[in-house]
Amino acid sequence: LEAQFFRAQRLESIGTLASGIAHDLNNVLAPILMTAQLLESQLNDQRSKRLLPILISNAKRGANLVKQVLSFTRGIEGDRTLLQLKHLITEIQQIVKETFPKSIEVSTSQEQTLWTVSGDATQLHQVLINLCVNARDAMPNGGQLTISAENFIVDKNYAKMYIDAQVGSYVVITVTDTGVGIPQEIIDRIFEPFFTTKDLGKGTGLGLSTVLGIVKSHGGFVHVYSEVGKGTQFKVFLPAQEAMETPEEQELELPNGNGE
Ligand code: ADP
Repeated sequence: LEAQFFRAQRLESIGTLASGIAHDLNNVLAPILMTAQLLESQLNDQRSKRLLPILISNAKRGANLVKQVLSFTRGIEGDRTLLQLKHLITEIQQIVKETFPKSIEVSTSQEQTLWTVSGDATQLHQVLINLCVNARDAMPNGGQLTISAENFIVDKNYAKMYIDAQVGSYVVITVTDTGVGIPQEIIDRIFEPFFTTKDLGKGTGLGLSTVLGIVKSHGGFVHVYSEVGKGTQFKVFLPAQEAMETPEEQELELPNGNGE
């Protein structure tokens, strides 16, 4: 699949905005709840006994909503451990092979020695499942799903081409399908929370915004390449813990593209 077109994701700003508001709202709700609970324990008249529980239960409901938004946009603070992604990929491959229709052919490939990634295993599991489910949905008549992983160095030239890429060492997980592809008109929107083209009840529109939230909280980024009628490729870049080469070494070997 060639890189026909590419869109950087500026859309995390929506998530950032939502989590900012949720955070502020939390700071408003917490003292309301505390005060109401204090009053409840001290006031004994009938009206207070009737009204305060209403106030308390609604403040709690608000706090819960806020918690949901926060955990969605930020991806609950993960447990960071040093991960060998090959285990994760094997696990995902098994799940997908067992649960996806037989018309979808699943294959994986990965580099012999993948660099280690510091991350939350459960969250990264979620990232891959979400991408694979989308790939499945994009291939109603079957097709090929490929999951691969490689070590990758983002050098200055690469970082210049893709505004969201930071120079450094990464493990890149690529999920490729041979499905319907994503029309250019909507590719800018696919990472937006609640954006979906799926039928009611089939899609929530939260899959890719969750992917982006988790990957960004790991210090990574996501690229997408797609062509209508051919397929789609998502590339998840996760910062590597240990690399064989430094980006500086790699950089010297690359032409600077400015002519002489
Ligand atoms: P949902 O899957 O619930 O619709 P997502 O955020 O995961 O929510 O995806 C948003 C939209 O992006 C999908 O509805 C679909 O239009 C598009 N999309 C995502 N992945 C793919 C893919 N692999 N192939 C084609 N379209 C895709």
